[in-house]
Amino acid sequence: MKIWLDGGLQDTESARVSVFDHGLTVGDGIFETVKAVDGRVFALTRHLDRLTRSARGLGLPDPDHDEVRRACAAVLDANPVPLGRLRITYTGGHGPLGSDRGEHGPTLVVALGETTRRPDSTAVITVPWTRNERGALTGLKTTSYAENVVALARAREQGASEALFGNTVGQLCEGTGSNVFVVLDGEIHTPPLASGCLAGITRALTVEWTGARETDLPLDVLERADEIFLTSTLRDVQAVHRVDGRELPGAPGPVTAKAMRIFDERAGNDLDP
Ligand code: PLP
Repeated sequence: MKIWLDGGLQDTESARVSVFDHGLTVGDGIFETVKAVDGRVFALTRHLDRLTRSARGLGLPDPDHDEVRRACAAVLDANPVPLGRLRITYTGGHGPLGSDRGEHGPTLVVALGETTRRPDSTAVITVPWTRNERGALTGLKTTSYAENVVALARAREQGASEALFGNTVGQLCEGTGSNVFVVLDGEIHTPPLASGCLAGITRALTVEWTGARETDLPLDVLERADEIFLTSTLRDVQAVHRVDGRELPGAPGPVTAKAMRIFDERAGNDLDP
């Protein structure tokens, strides 16, 4: 396996970043996970734009889009896989211990993991911890993901693949690595960005392609929604067949199944929507 680091391809086994890299010591970094199908990258322009938004939110220098594009192409070329996910990581770089950034420039790493198509439906849980809709990092895709690691471990313990958060005012927000949609009386709704959720790229495309509405939703909407689904780069559109103790038999229901079809068709036809 080859990865991109320090401006070129390196062997994964021997590639090294400093143990004083701020991505490691204080979680001072951002990332993107991008889908790659047969060596071609999905929605890369949107991912690069979000990477820049996250960089600006953290006060990191703007990432060089041309370099990231070259890195993605080189990594895919060196590691051909039918379906993969590129992980772009961009950190504050080598710095002093503590929260002050050093003089060194940022670190850019692009790596590839092979993956498989997700199952059509999955189980989720809700967790008692809240997303902060007004935090310094809200809406930024930072490497400070420990809260998601903890919540996902809780989901796994309960036989689920995702954990959903409410926000501090009791509204439905998002999952550890996905956005959430509900179907009420035939209409699709998803929490607005003001709920504190990440501006998911799959979410934005799903809203655009299905006409889903952005609606403030109480967390307990999950107890009565006719259908529930998740969106993310790794899941595309994925139905929920169980939330906590509640079964949703027949998932994907008709509205979700249609959203899945629309997404597969549109995304398959346009790799940079
Ligand atoms: N929410 C969080 C917290 C995420 O980490 C992710 C993806 O990694 C998403 C939502 C979904 O975003 P996207 O559709 O861009 O993958």
